[in-house]
Amino acid sequence: MDLHNDLMLEVQAAKRDITIRSSAGHADLPRLREGGVDGQCFALFVHPKEADRGFARVTELLDAFDRLAAANDAVLGRVTSVAEIERLQQAGRLAVVLAIENGSALGGDLYHLDAVYERGVRMMSLTWNNSNGLADGAMESRHGGLTPLGRRVLNRMQDLAMVVDVSHLSEKSFWDTLAVTQGPIVATHSNAAALTPHPRNLNDEQLRVMARRGGVVGVNFYPTFTGGPALSRILDHVAYMSKVMGPDHVALGSDFDGFDGRVSDLEDVARLPNLTAGLLARGFDARTVTQILGGNALRVFREVWGR
Ligand SMILES: [Zn+2]
Repeated sequence: MDLHNDLMLEVQAAKRDITIRSSAGHADLPRLREGGVDGQCFALFVHPKEADRGFARVTELLDAFDRLAAANDAVLGRVTSVAEIERLQQAGRLAVVLAIENGSALGGDLYHLDAVYERGVRMMSLTWNNSNGLADGAMESRHGGLTPLGRRVLNRMQDLAMVVDVSHLSEKSFWDTLAVTQGPIVATHSNAAALTPHPRNLNDEQLRVMARRGGVVGVNFYPTFTGGPALSRILDHVAYMSKVMGPDHVALGSDFDGFDGRVSDLEDVARLPNLTAGLLARGFDARTVTQILGGNALRVFREVWGR
């Protein structure tokens, strides 16, 4: 189970046909299968330059996903429960969880949250790197944290049993979000700032509170956040986060097709078995590896979604 992949941007822009195996980018449907991915969160990302038409933009991405799913029903399906994820896994189909990256997708209208929920979205981050009408982002801190509308969006997300994603928030927004939510939340694609200091990574105090709340943090493969383009750096973050949070709170959030360049020994999603081998070589037992590769994320989804 991978908590973050940006492939839907390429699908919507018709940059390439992801139903065909290629060597472009990090992922396509055949390579997701080869890499052993059973569940994938597809990020519906609204870039800040499209924030003023955020709802129209996310609608374009949702339409693109619906077309992809309708044409490839045997290969993948949209899911809104863990029971469905398991059913698709058994049928050999990719289970897709739709997730919004950047609450600017709501266009400032709380009712749009219900509209995207109706279309199957089950997870959302309030911001990307920039600040918006909901909260401050990690790369543009106005020291304001959550706005009143951001609080209302979080309340409604929890009423709807949507997963709250804190990746990309500023530190103040992060703590504000912890204060106004209950239960497990996730950071879909963030690493340990103690190893790689960067505003997109989480400090030890943040990691510990994610664990205390029963959530997970998905390890991001982007070399800027891991400390270099090598699988060993990713393993360093998994090991460190497991030490600080406990291994039951570590998950995967590859960010594949959301960054340029390649990670040596993990060049694309088809090479994911190298990550499994690397974890075993570092002394993680098989059960713990299984939890990190998906069990932990599924536990949180089941708890939040209720099934
Ligand atoms: Zn991101």
